[in-house]
Amino acid sequence: MLWTKRLLALFLLLLAPIAGIQALTPLYKFEGSAPFSGQRWFNPFSSDTLTWTRANFHIHSRTWGGITNGHHSPSEIIRAYDSLGYRWIGIADYQRINSESPILLYEHGWSIGKVHQLCFWPESVRWWDYPLLQTLSAKQHTLRILRPTTPLLVIAHPRFLGSYTGRELSRLGGYDAIEVLNRYGDSIEEWDSALSSGHFTPIIASDNAHDVYNPHEVMSRWTEVAISPNAPIDSLRAALYRGRTVGYKNRTPYPLRAYPTFRRIELVGETLFVETSQPVDSLRIIGQNGHIRAVSYQTDKLIYSIRPADTYLRAEAYTSAVEAYTSPLVRGVPKRRPIPKIDWGWTGLHGLFWGGIAVFLIVAGLRLIRAKQNKQVQDRFLSQPLE
Ligand SMILES: [Zn+2]
Repeated sequence: MLWTKRLLALFLLLLAPIAGIQALTPLYKFEGSAPFSGQRWFNPFSSDTLTWTRANFHIHSRTWGGITNGHHSPSEIIRAYDSLGYRWIGIADYQRINSESPILLYEHGWSIGKVHQLCFWPESVRWWDYPLLQTLSAKQHTLRILRPTTPLLVIAHPRFLGSYTGRELSRLGGYDAIEVLNRYGDSIEEWDSALSSGHFTPIIASDNAHDVYNPHEVMSRWTEVAISPNAPIDSLRAALYRGRTVGYKNRTPYPLRAYPTFRRIELVGETLFVETSQPVDSLRIIGQNGHIRAVSYQTDKLIYSIRPADTYLRAEAYTSAVEAYTSPLVRGVPKRRPIPKIDWGWTGLHGLFWGGIAVFLIVAGLRLIRAKQNKQVQDRFLSQPLE
């Protein structure tokens, strides 16, 4: 049964680098939750009038010789979204910065679990990833590696294959925003979990389109950014980081021509005023742990008196055609958890353990190969005719 031994040897030698990657992963000291607190509130939408520009930062073009999922060239993609009135278009290819993309970014990650991140305006592409096993520390380590390479690090589609759970997002540090709405899964609960833990994370919403000629793929989710259409890229960057965004989900199967926008999201003293450009079926205010704090039906206005227990507040609007989710207003400052400190003691033990397994796999794999070669030599020797 030489072939089974050969197969087993190959399997062991393939597992060895995976164990090696685990050995190189630090273990982090994750902090507990610290919900937003303070007397004053941070409102990203505090401005006289709100002007909205439409954006999609997650489109895949045809690249990597067609191996990855993406059907069209950058010019076809730009034409398709231009025709729908998009102001900001980002082609986020896998592991590649597309220089023809109006907004420069790429989608990081090649694991089977689809643990992906959108790296905006990156300095370079990072290839470090965990193909199979992704512990919380492994996810944190990837964010740590990406962090210095990008000014806006966005967790992509957490709900897609459960790549990031709400509990994980409530403990991880070093990310700037979450792609809450995505055609492959909307992650409202995961987002609320991150916000409830006291991590300021604005909303990004994207089609994640691979075929821009498919009307069901285009304008299914998008981000409205509260900046003027003539604003420079630096203003866009600041607006995304500060949370001047609203995520939209299209409830119809085709692109929309018109939909309500938020005309006013304003705090006056301890009262929050939310107003839409046209009446909607319902307006809601959501707070800590995703609990509904107020609802108003068939209206274009909602007035909410803030309670002492409120830590963050965000608004939602519903019509038969769309759902709209604003980025949050938070108590105190819009703080984000930094990358946690490394637990060097446990990291050492963990490294020894996985390093030992990697060595064992290599030795066992090589022994199997050698055993096979020895047997071949032995067989040849035995088959020699006796003189
Ligand atoms: Zn992805």
